[in-house]
Amino acid sequence: MRGYRVQTRLPGRPDITFPALRLVVFVNGCFWHRCPVCQPRLPAANAEFWSAKFRENRRRDEEARANLQAAGWDVVTVWEHEIRPDPSQRALELATMIRSRRLTHSAGTDA
Ligand SMILES: [Zn+2]
Repeated sequence: MRGYRVQTRLPGRPDITFPALRLVVFVNGCFWHRCPVCQPRLPAANAEFWSAKFRENRRRDEEARANLQAAGWDVVTVWEHEIRPDPSQRALELATMIRSRRLTHSAGTDA
C-alpha cells in the first residue's frame, strides 16, 4: 500500500493517513477505546478512576472524529478485535476500499 503517512498531526493523531484520499484510519484498542462489540469490563479496582478515564478517552475520540469530518476527512476505525489474531480479512477490506477510492479520485468523479 502506498501513499500513506503515519503519526500525522491531525486531530486525534490518526494511526494511518492517506492525504490524497482525505482518509484517516484509527486502530483502536478494544479496552482503551471501549469497543462497543467487545464491551470490555471495567477493572474492579479503582472503578471511579477508570470510568472517568474511559469517559475522557471516548470524548476525545468523538471530538477528533468530529473535527476531522468537519475538515473534510473520512474517518475509518479499525478495532483490535478485527485484526487479532488474524489481520488479513480486515486488511483486505481496507485495501479494497482504498483502491476503489483511488479510482474515483483519479477519475475526478469525487466531489
Ligand atoms: Zn472489540
